[in-house]
Amino acid sequence: MDYIVPQNQPSLLLKLISEDVLINKDINDFGMVVRYPEYSFAEIYISNGCLNNCSFCKLTFQKYPLKSAELSKVKEFIDSLNDEKYSKVILKGTNICQYGLDIYNEYMLPEIISYLEKKENIKNVILAGFSFKDAIKNDFQSVIANSRKVVELCGSLESGSDRILELIRKGFTSDEIINFVQGIRKINYKSLYLNIIAGFPTETLDDIKKTLTVLKKLDPYMVDICRYTNSEFVYSSHYKQLSPTEIQNHTRIYSKVLQKRNIDINISGKGYEYN
Ligand code: SF4
Repeated sequence: MDYIVPQNQPSLLLKLISEDVLINKDINDFGMVVRYPEYSFAEIYISNGCLNNCSFCKLTFQKYPLKSAELSKVKEFIDSLNDEKYSKVILKGTNICQYGLDIYNEYMLPEIISYLEKKENIKNVILAGFSFKDAIKNDFQSVIANSRKVVELCGSLESGSDRILELIRKGFTSDEIINFVQGIRKINYKSLYLNIIAGFPTETLDDIKKTLTVLKKLDPYMVDICRYTNSEFVYSSHYKQLSPTEIQNHTRIYSKVLQKRNIDINISGKGYEYN
């Protein structure tokens, strides 16, 4: 394979290579259904890859391009899990909100949710790999709010500071995500499991304060605090980096405040300057 890329765009090379490697990969190669019969729950991996371009994200290069499972296959798996009396199903993907875009040119997650509604034995559905940007921009609010099965959303806030969200290119503002979640909860309560980044380049104590305020309004039961890890292949490496000590301090502040609020936390990411 030969690639020609500008010297100042090494990330383009990664993108081209991963496109070549993954373009013909079958969705089943990623392992579509995992059953945990002892807990009566199963995971369905409905799509791989994401077309968003968050400035820090390495997944975009590792899992690009978006690859959705065929809708008929997903429905088939839902039917068999229902027949086998599985009560809990997790729909998973790198970004499940973009499910269907690559093969049907349409955002098809709402159709899967509506399909699940009719399944008697499946009581609880968790949406993991939930991109608030795609959900907000494509009006998923009412289908999720009115779903009796969807009980939990797992996705990324990253930051509650609009300045940082813009640097990340997250695609939503703090007000938009608050309105989205609160609008849903007015109709039906859903639990939230959120990721945030501690020590994103240029993050200040004021940004941390804003993130903690937004988290208070979103009221997640669990927060994954991911220590920012830089890489020369991502756009955010162009921003002014915090030192490892500052990243550590920011992580400490987040974990201390959230624990005080009785929110479960998990700390991830190496927090080294480069990987
Ligand atoms: S939405 Fe998630 S997977 Fe997609 S680019 Fe952003 S961080 Fe990466």
